[in-house]
Amino acid sequence: MSSRIIVVGVLLTVSGAHAQDAGTNTTDVRAKVIDDLVAANRILADQGILDGYGHVSARDPEHPDRFLLSRSQAPEMVTAGDILEHDLDGNVIATRSGVNPFLERFIHAAIYRARPDVNAVVHCHSPSLILFGATAAPLRPLYHMSAFLVGGVPVFDIRTVAGDTDMLVRTPQLGQALAKTLGAHTVALMRGHGAVIVAADLQHAVFRSVYTELNARLQAQAMALGKVKFLDDDEARKAEATMGGTVQRPWELWRRKAMK
Ligand code: MN
Repeated sequence: MSSRIIVVGVLLTVSGAHAQDAGTNTTDVRAKVIDDLVAANRILADQGILDGYGHVSARDPEHPDRFLLSRSQAPEMVTAGDILEHDLDGNVIATRSGVNPFLERFIHAAIYRARPDVNAVVHCHSPSLILFGATAAPLRPLYHMSAFLVGGVPVFDIRTVAGDTDMLVRTPQLGQALAKTLGAHTVALMRGHGAVIVAADLQHAVFRSVYTELNARLQAQAMALGKVKFLDDDEARKAEATMGGTVQRPWELWRRKAMK
């Protein structure tokens, strides 16, 4: 068992997926992801993307068939001791009495299963995104900060999959249907509920969550003023190539503010 963990760690170090430098060992890599996951919870709460609800997860760098997600509680209160390991069916690996997982953990499980490129998932109910899940207006990149929306933002309508529900993605089947709607996109809206935002790491997932909400707020205001000039696909791809490389800057700022 231990030899398998070492092999996985070497691969991650070589690929540089999470390692800070070539000398980082597996325990350090996993500890850093958990540290960043706690920070991501606090940042997303501080930035108004998550409130008492919503969650953020990370794929386990030592076990790519598992993910790390807090027990069911408000994101602002999450500490390292609250992080539970889940398998890709949404089961908690080591259950503890009195510790409840999130009802909607199947969102994360299904996306990690469907998207090997994804290592971080945010599920939020941030207010401006609700507008675009509830209307026919497509969410599109309005400025360079949200250029990652290039390629479109699909809308998951739970009614088309399961009829009248309580709107929660509370089964593996609903998670799979949502992951199918997300496809290869970075964001999917959920009608009457919220959104999922995915990325290759927590820093990008947090960045995209903040700027998807800001884009939606600005777009709703712009649409009230008149015809909107969105970024075209070429502009958005060029802007994303530049801005995607700068996410460490706001991450460090937001982290400092949120962890005070
Ligand atoms: Mn939800």
